[in-house]
Amino acid sequence: MSHSAFHYVDGVLHVEGVSAASLAEQFGTPLYVYSRDALTRAYHAYADACAGRRATVHVAVKANSNLAVLNVFARMGAGFDIVSSGELARVLAAGGKAENTVFSGVGKSAAEMREALEAGVKCFNVESIPELHALNEVAKSLGKKAPVSLRVNPDVDAKTHPYISTGLKSNKFGVAFKDARATYAQAHEMANLDVIGIDCHIGSQITEVSPYLDALDKLLELVEQIEADGMSIRHVDVGGGLGITYDDETPPDIGEFVKTLLDHIEKRGHGQREVYFEPGRSLVGNAGVLLTRIEFLKPGEEKNFAIVDAAMNDLARPAMYEAFHRIVPVVKRDEKAHKYDVVGPVCESGDWLGRDRELAIAPGDLLAICSAGAYGFVMSSNYNTRPRAAEIMVDGERARLVREREEVTQLFAGESILPD
Ligand SMILES: *Cc1c(COP(=O)(O)O)cnc(C)c1O
Repeated sequence: MSHSAFHYVDGVLHVEGVSAASLAEQFGTPLYVYSRDALTRAYHAYADACAGRRATVHVAVKANSNLAVLNVFARMGAGFDIVSSGELARVLAAGGKAENTVFSGVGKSAAEMREALEAGVKCFNVESIPELHALNEVAKSLGKKAPVSLRVNPDVDAKTHPYISTGLKSNKFGVAFKDARATYAQAHEMANLDVIGIDCHIGSQITEVSPYLDALDKLLELVEQIEADGMSIRHVDVGGGLGITYDDETPPDIGEFVKTLLDHIEKRGHGQREVYFEPGRSLVGNAGVLLTRIEFLKPGEEKNFAIVDAAMNDLARPAMYEAFHRIVPVVKRDEKAHKYDVVGPVCESGDWLGRDRELAIAPGDLLAICSAGAYGFVMSSNYNTRPRAAEIMVDGERARLVREREEVTQLFAGESILPD
């Protein structure tokens, strides 16, 4: 967790100047709580390291797309990385600009391409030859030229969980490295495309710099070949993926990471190009917690269970990736701790949030599931007809509801029964 935003005062967890216990009382649980200060600090770590260099930050919207979160970044001048036209709509609603937005994703529809072209996005990160053709057609129908970058798959091992590794040959993402030069040549021939950049995104929760440097070396080698073929590559987009500390991981410091990459690019003689970063997790992950209340304690022969009111539908990462999130009491107790599996009420054995956790707790207590700001609320669902949680943004001494808790009637408002 960001060092100052989440801390205990007299044994009670606080988010900036606000007690997490009072937030749970006021807004109910499960409850996502974000710190504006933690978001701001993480963004500044990137932006400050980019200052004075030809480098810009594009916030990966999919990690946390709450309008208030996006707006905090937009106010600081951030660009955005989107993967759907829905995310484009969110960026615009949150005060972001299309001309600072790059459009990533392996399966953009023609309708999405049209919307993004009409809005005037900065670049389409294209992942295949069929997508190049489709984009060229859409641009032609609008009498426009689409700015494009090819997402190249550099075939490097990001040394992360297989589900969140994206830069290997076996992944569905990007144009294979060996085909990239020829694919650029094809793009160059298409009248309604304007080739302006190159990009990659090798995975997520990456805790070492070396995979990035390996990927960069391959990309820059390719850039030299492409320019020899008569195209001009104005920007190099290194993607996102920098990891955070969930448990005992030691990812590089954001500022160090940015400087290392920028220095590497300069040293390789490519300092004239603009560098794009697309961070998601490292901006928002440790800026949010999920508050939940203990419904029951259920001792068992092999395991003790703490059954809480948050579940896999609220935070999917443990069920999906066996991801670890620290779980801490909101109000500390002096009693002896026992070992619990922290589980939700959903009818799935995969519905767990933490395993074998030493906790001193009683029914009715509040727990905070840490590092829940990235891929938390955005992946939540209504499985078991559970309304999605409310979201709160704390700003100093103030807390604001930035998304209302869903009502059950909303969940089936679009459904209907047969007339006869
Ligand atoms: C998911 C994604 C990101 C953000 O990844 P993080 O691991 O959250 O930093 C950036 N770029 C692209 C293309 C992505 O798909």
